[in-house]
Amino acid sequence: MAANDLDAYWMPFTPNRRFKANPRLLGGAKGMHYTTPDGRQILDATSGLWCVNAGHGREPITEAIRRQAGEMDYAPSFNLGHPLAFTFASRLAQMTPKGLDRIFFTNSGSEAVDTALKIALAYHRGRGKGTKTRLIGRERGYHGVGFGGISVGGIPKNRMYFGSLLTGVDHLPHTHGLPENLFSQGLPRHGAHLADDLERIVALHDASNIAAVIVEPVACSTGVLVPPEGYLQKLRAICDRHDILLIFDEVITGFGRVGAPFAADRFGVTPDMICMAKGLTNAAVPAGAVAASTAIYDTMLDGADAPIELFHGYTYSGHPLACAAGLATLEIYQGEGLFERALALEPYWRAAVHSLADARHVVDIRDFGLIAGVELSPRAGAPTARAMEAFEAAFDQGLLIRVTGDIIALSPPLIVSESQIDQIVETIRKVLAAVE
Ligand code: PLP
Repeated sequence: MAANDLDAYWMPFTPNRRFKANPRLLGGAKGMHYTTPDGRQILDATSGLWCVNAGHGREPITEAIRRQAGEMDYAPSFNLGHPLAFTFASRLAQMTPKGLDRIFFTNSGSEAVDTALKIALAYHRGRGKGTKTRLIGRERGYHGVGFGGISVGGIPKNRMYFGSLLTGVDHLPHTHGLPENLFSQGLPRHGAHLADDLERIVALHDASNIAAVIVEPVACSTGVLVPPEGYLQKLRAICDRHDILLIFDEVITGFGRVGAPFAADRFGVTPDMICMAKGLTNAAVPAGAVAASTAIYDTMLDGADAPIELFHGYTYSGHPLACAAGLATLEIYQGEGLFERALALEPYWRAAVHSLADARHVVDIRDFGLIAGVELSPRAGAPTARAMEAFEAAFDQGLLIRVTGDIIALSPPLIVSESQIDQIVETIRKVLAAVE
């Protein structure tokens, strides 16, 4: 490929000049591996971008997409419908926690987040509590890139660049960084008390002004921040006490990533809404969804002051190709028992990643389900450079990892084998030994 072929594409979340000076391209994908255009195999330790949970190139999904594209390419979903969207919603509702069985389709995680926030506001208004509008997120939360998502998100750069519209929100403290929790295996012991900060926010604004709290059960994109034992249960209890909706953003933690259909199942905490995307279709077709409680749905329909109860939707909500891909994906998850497989692999995964504790530059390691974060000490005067170089070196040695700040984030497809886990860990050890 000639260098000027790279010019037109403005790449997302990428230092464009650095990439284009030395492009790392992917050409094919099957099972646990990508293939580069020059034929090198790359072991995928990140499920693409936390999304290809069943592994790449799954034939039943490909076939379902092919079949659907031949039968009906597109169907509007405003005032019309197609059977597959209803079937997919019903199947999905069987997988979501009990009571969260009304499904609104979107095309991405960002849209799922904005949808859930809008539902929260509309719901309270529909029940005559229209002053409940404040939204509570958390520091170091990532909820996509819509203005709603970055408002409740806790990423300083979003506030720095796009802050002018981010009003009406507050943030809980993040749960990370307590010295007692270093190198925690699974859930850290300390920090459940950080949920009590919600009481402080309620005391400040009064619950009559607060609509919802949104958190990722495990905050992944900002560096794998695992919730302390009891933390999510506490948040649920405080929300209940003050009539505040609790939204779990499970865009990453859904679909087996933590060894259960959803993190809500694994933690035994049922939110009022779940945002999902990524693993929903194994990433083969862009799709997202919000699962809302029946109570929210019924309230909205009963309290509607206009024929359209929720003034919201996307041209591609419930797109036929997404529904076909999603149905085939759910069948693979269930037929192959992939969520149970992830849970069974967790101890092996945990031991393997924590064996990196004595690797060069490593200052902390955390894990939950088939997720791990390996935190590196930042290079003096050049934060994030070391991790970025580790990412590039790993790729050149046939391993795809993800880095965020100075943290390596790992999330292999749920079909990963024990020997592939060993390979992931050995390659990272070698890369860290070589990176300055
Ligand atoms: N929410 C969470 C928790 C995410 O991790 C992500 C993406 O990584 C998003 C939302 C945004 O999803 P998308 O990139 O599909 O818009």
